Amino acid sequence: MKLVVRVKVLPTPLQAAALEATLHACNEAATWAASVAFENEARRPLELRKHTYAEIRERWGLGAQAAQHAIKKTCDAYTTLKANLRNGRYGRPGTKRHTRASGKPVVFRPQAAQPYDDRMLSWQHQARTVSIWTTAGRLKGVAFTGQAEQLEVLAAHRQGESDLLFRDGKWFLIATCEIPEGDLNTHPVGFLGVDLGIVNIAVTSDGERHCGRRINRKRERDRKLRSKLQKKQTKSAKRRAKKYAGKEARRNKDINHKISKRIVAEAERTGRGISLETLTGIRERARLRKPQRTTLHSWPFAQLGSFIAYKAKRAGVPVVYVDPAYTSQECSLCHHTERGNRPAQAVFACRVCGFVDHADHNASHNIAHRGWYVWVCGAQSMAPELTLIA
Ligand SMILES: [Zn+2]
Repeated sequence: MKLVVRVKVLPTPLQAAALEATLHACNEAATWAASVAFENEARRPLELRKHTYAEIRERWGLGAQAAQHAIKKTCDAYTTLKANLRNGRYGRPGTKRHTRASGKPVVFRPQAAQPYDDRMLSWQHQARTVSIWTTAGRLKGVAFTGQAEQLEVLAAHRQGESDLLFRDGKWFLIATCEIPEGDLNTHPVGFLGVDLGIVNIAVTSDGERHCGRRINRKRERDRKLRSKLQKKQTKSAKRRAKKYAGKEARRNKDINHKISKRIVAEAERTGRGISLETLTGIRERARLRKPQRTTLHSWPFAQLGSFIAYKAKRAGVPVVYVDPAYTSQECSLCHHTERGNRPAQAVFACRVCGFVDHADHNASHNIAHRGWYVWVCGAQSMAPELTLIA
């Protein structure tokens, strides 16, 4: 299973200047190579190399590896463009858009990502630094940082190329990691159902509730602050709003990592699979008063789902996806379904058999049941191939 890990690079001002010069040189060289490729109809790496390699090395001072990568990046860009033209992303041939896209060479932004291989970039995980090639020589001891979870994955499983990236005034390295998958538990003894919701982010059929009121209050406070800042319209207010949004996103991600870790660990420990609701349902399902709706929308459920999926895959825990329709109205004991079974947001009370439970807990039981059927019917779903955990 491939995972992409993004870490933040913390260069000193001097190091940052060298990185910036390098990125500019690589992209200028690639843009020039793209124009050569366009004029000479040379869009295969081997052919384009003949036309451009020597000059790139001389004019932009790129090392052998960097020059090769700049050429390959150019060829890849043309391959992508060709595919996009073919599948109609630029309209039909002959239209203005199509002609504009196909009638001129590819251009790279000065700060477009640049691939680095192991000869140009080495990682010192203990010291949390990298040694990286630049046009001004090799920089040693460039610090990087990331969340504990990401750093762990990076140190254990990084493989192949990484991309150097400059975005919003910050430097990043994006590394590909190849994670071994656990042996899939093909005989789960049952399924752990997970109900995603508003008051509690996730409730399992074991009755474990993840993140209730305390975090909601925090989210609410942040949201109010942000909307206040956004109304102000001044530059500094916008900057602060952006900063708060970033902070909240990081905190949410951290929470999602923790929740998914516990859910997967619990399923693994008890020899069960995990039953998740398909995520398309969650927004339509939530017919709520407006203030609650905003908090719901701001929670990254899709991210939580993908975290559970990849952690489960790593642990060999099967994951199934079920249709969540009416799981909140269905009695998990007698399966009688009606809206009247929910006298209040948090309460489930079956009108036929009298079963009473916390509403989210009842729903998670239904999700667990449905997961078992999905599994028995063989409609087992797998985690997506590529998941961004950064
Ligand atoms: Zn009932």
